[in-house]
Amino acid sequence: MERYIRVENEDGETVSIPAKVGLCSCCEGYGKVENSAFSNGFTSSEWAELDDESKENYMAGDYDVQCKACEGTGRVLVPNLERMTFTHKRILVNVRREQREVAAAARAVDAEMAAERAFGC
Ligand SMILES: [Zn+2]
Repeated sequence: MERYIRVENEDGETVSIPAKVGLCSCCEGYGKVENSAFSNGFTSSEWAELDDESKENYMAGDYDVQCKACEGTGRVLVPNLERMTFTHKRILVNVRREQREVAAAARAVDAEMAAERAFGC
């Protein structure tokens, strides 16, 4: 089945970007991320206040929350670079700041275009 990422170009038209299923760059395929409430870690005094069970739960990942980027599946649609035209790439780069869900996709395109420039294409 053909998959597409739908984005709006600068004229507000919906464009279908050829896509494939790839690893979620947010959780690296794990499907869960550390609860943002704990992302700064504990201070040593906060850690000391936790009971042993809470510490064990934390270490076991019980406080991890479902990754929002992939809804816990660990997989997201990423642009299929082999099937994308230059126009597709340009549109993706343009919309990357407007749509968080294609941000990772745009980074991949950026990297590829940088590689192309490096090769003098
Ligand atoms: Zn994820």
